[in-house]
Amino acid sequence: VSTPSDAPTIFDQIINKEIPSTVVYEDDKVLAFRDIAPQAPTHILIIPKVRDGLTGLSKAEERHCEILGRLLHTAKLVAKQEGLDDGFRIVINDGLDGGQTVFHIHLHLIGGRQMGWPPF
Ligand code: 5GP
Repeated sequence: VSTPSDAPTIFDQIINKEIPSTVVYEDDKVLAFRDIAPQAPTHILIIPKVRDGLTGLSKAEERHCEILGRLLHTAKLVAKQEGLDDGFRIVINDGLDGGQTVFHIHLHLIGGRQMGWPPF
């Protein structure tokens, strides 16, 4: 079944290097690049290169556990690489209420300033 959220996203073009992005980490499974509209001094998006149905976290199945773990581990690696030694925040927006705009699962790695809580 094809729904709008199953359609290819801008992240496919970023993965395929059809549109430019500032890549900060890449391996065979994961890509991390700077957000085009940063909300903090460091704002990086971490995505799986193959979406495999993971339009958002709410679509996660047992088979996605490995890639979900790898995304989080990549966040830690990139945080270190970015020098976020005083801490950072990971955000996953999901669906309408979560404010998700790109339907290819992604972690936001945000840092370089003091974060507020609650986050809205
Ligand atoms: P969401 O709102 O779905 O959680 O996050 C999508 C993020 O993708 C937003 O923070 C937005 O700024 C970022 N974004 C959207 N289009 C592009 C793009 O073409 N390039 C980059 N680098 N980031 C993008």
